[in-house]
Amino acid sequence: MYTYILQCSDDTYYTGWTTDLEKRLNTHNQKKGAKYTKARLPVRLVYWEWFKTQSHAQGREWEIKQLSRKKKENLVNENIKNEGDVLMEKALRYTVDQLEEILKIPSPSGHTEYVKEHITKELDNLKVTYQETHKGAIIATLEGEETKEHRTVSAHMDTLGAMVKEIKDNGRLKFDSIGGYMMNSVEGENCVIETLDRKQYSGTFYTTKPSVHIHNDAKKTDRILENMEVLIDEKVSSAGDVEKLGISIGDFIFFDPRTQIQEGGFIKSRHIDDKAGVAVMLGMIFDLKKKKKKPFYTTHFFFSNYEEVGHGASASIPLETKEFLAIDMSTPGEGQSSTEYHVTICAKDSTGPYDYSLRKKLAEIAKEHKINYKIDLYPYYGSDASAALRSGNDFKAALIGPGVYASHGYERTHVDAINNTLKLGVQYLLSR
Ligand SMILES: [Zn+2]
Repeated sequence: MYTYILQCSDDTYYTGWTTDLEKRLNTHNQKKGAKYTKARLPVRLVYWEWFKTQSHAQGREWEIKQLSRKKKENLVNENIKNEGDVLMEKALRYTVDQLEEILKIPSPSGHTEYVKEHITKELDNLKVTYQETHKGAIIATLEGEETKEHRTVSAHMDTLGAMVKEIKDNGRLKFDSIGGYMMNSVEGENCVIETLDRKQYSGTFYTTKPSVHIHNDAKKTDRILENMEVLIDEKVSSAGDVEKLGISIGDFIFFDPRTQIQEGGFIKSRHIDDKAGVAVMLGMIFDLKKKKKKPFYTTHFFFSNYEEVGHGASASIPLETKEFLAIDMSTPGEGQSSTEYHVTICAKDSTGPYDYSLRKKLAEIAKEHKINYKIDLYPYYGSDASAALRSGNDFKAALIGPGVYASHGYERTHVDAINNTLKLGVQYLLSR
């Protein structure tokens, strides 16, 4: 649902709400809109906001209508949107919807079947051909104007998680971590334990001294693996009880992502890293398909499945690839230039500098298309691009992505960052 402002031919503003911006703008300009705009054609769409519900959109419409001309002008001038933005709006909505769905599908490294099912179904809907590698990555391909040299874009569908390491005599579970995270970031978190035959049980992560009323040193307990355990939501008090449930060593444990997408555009969830990248790749494909455009070079979309453990895109990159673009989170925080609203082009991470010329090209594309971007360095970070280079590939590599706050914890970003990443991704595909 959108609340929007039109600028009429006599320079006055008209405020309304709609479910479809593009259609609504055409309706106005074909003299089928409101009486007010009919007499003041042509009209130009100068501002809009998106809302989940009609009531919010209508409420905002009323609010804007109460504003003075000066205040409306400020609103419009502070949020300059151009025609390109209207055309991208559908792809952005698709991307955010995809992100919300994908965030809720568990996919720790080593157990990405469920999210793969979703992605391939979506690729079928978009009528894109794809193949699965032996290792379980998915490679979708769009043919370009130029088919000799190729590009590969990647995002990782795997996330952090945990695995049952030991079933304790008291019926609790010791676990091992999948990927790198702080134990205090999972303390108190709900989870799901999945057995080999896909039975699921809920549970919660605790320290071994979780109550201040009975453990004098509860606050001081080191938040390390040895002091953490999972309680299963079943009446179990021995290892035998747990085994009877079908739970065994090696079973995967999924964190509750607690996904929230708010009216103001903030997205809070676990695993925004890198499901935001996955959703953006689907959004890029959606946008080109909708506009019936080909990328300039034949482009492969690589959905990798072992990034969090270091060897994601290390195999099966199509040989014709001359440029490799990883789409993965950037790192806002103290001393960083990245924000939750920009797309960041990474200059260097702990694996070294990214390709200079490709990085400059991406910045030029961003400038040309008025995409809000930052350049940043990530101190403790490696990407699928670094994994691909390490394994012996010969191509120029770059890394872009939305700013994700509190990475590998309960993360946060904003729709603006998704939008900017999507726009840069699409313009890159179309560029020479
Ligand atoms: Zn990542």
